[in-house]
Amino acid sequence: MAAHILDGKLLAQTIRTQIAQETTELHSHTGIRPGLAVFLVGNDPASAVYVRNKKKACDAAGLQVHDYKLDAETNQTELLGLIEATNHDPTIHGILVQLPLPPQIDSRMILEAVSPMKDADGFHPYNMGRLLSGDPVFLPCTPKGVMKMIESTGQTIEGKRAVVLGRSNIVGKPVAALLMQANATVTVCHSKTQDLPSVTREADILIAAIGKAQFVTRDMVKNGAIVVDVGINRLDDGRLVGDVDFESVQEQAGWLSPVPGGVGPMTIAMLLSNTLEAAKRTAGR
Ligand code: NDP
Repeated sequence: MAAHILDGKLLAQTIRTQIAQETTELHSHTGIRPGLAVFLVGNDPASAVYVRNKKKACDAAGLQVHDYKLDAETNQTELLGLIEATNHDPTIHGILVQLPLPPQIDSRMILEAVSPMKDADGFHPYNMGRLLSGDPVFLPCTPKGVMKMIESTGQTIEGKRAVVLGRSNIVGKPVAALLMQANATVTVCHSKTQDLPSVTREADILIAAIGKAQFVTRDMVKNGAIVVDVGINRLDDGRLVGDVDFESVQEQAGWLSPVPGGVGPMTIAMLLSNTLEAAKRTAGR
């Protein structure tokens, strides 16, 4: 039987509608409107599209966007100064610095300059540490979205075998930490893992985040598994595909997220969710 499709677009829309309602409520009770500062440095076309989509989603949900569009020559001191100002601005509850940054700027230093209490992307080492210690403040958006998608299946995570393909700081590691926190038994695979199919075939829950087009094929998937595809890859013919070979795996998995229309929209919804949560914390709610 073909897998149930994990429709990230639909789920994200439901979450965004809920966020819009809570934003209106927060504003009418406290006068606080959640504010997100968005820093875009330079002219990278892909970054411009990501930022535009994030800003559109914020506007639709009633969040206030504070737009910092800076030219490609911006130096580190200027950017640090602006971030410091937003750290102290009480109308700003979340700060997003779109990556990549131009080469004259040290990305790590910039991400660490963002106040951990306004770190809407959840990339600050403080927030990574809080996540690993089991007491998170901000969760990184994509991993948080992946967990929401798994939860939407209605299946229990506790006691299940989960395999995470990829160990990056922004996806693989935090997804593994969240699954462990949800009491799954977690295995993390990477480019040095031996006999990968024998590991992935054990997974009740399989997360693919390696950036290799259609890498996960039917023979690598357990019958009935929940498969979440984080990958975004552009084929030579222009098509966008995930890390999972959708056609073959949908005959084997129980649930499968598509690309596009899977994790991508969830990532944006979680950015809004993080900003709203930060504003609520400010209001003591
Ligand atoms: P990285 O390139 O930072 O990490 C890739 C990981 O995959 C590494 O840990 C690497 O192992 C592992 N890997 C690479 N090749 C193999 C292989 N053949 N077998 C097993 N493991 C392998 O990628 P990201 O985590 O940043 O992103 C992963 C994918 O997710 C990309 O396609 C990206 O575009 C997408 N993405 C999507 C988002 C969304 O919102 N939908 C958000 C963020 C990312 P090693 O550590 O050994 O090198």
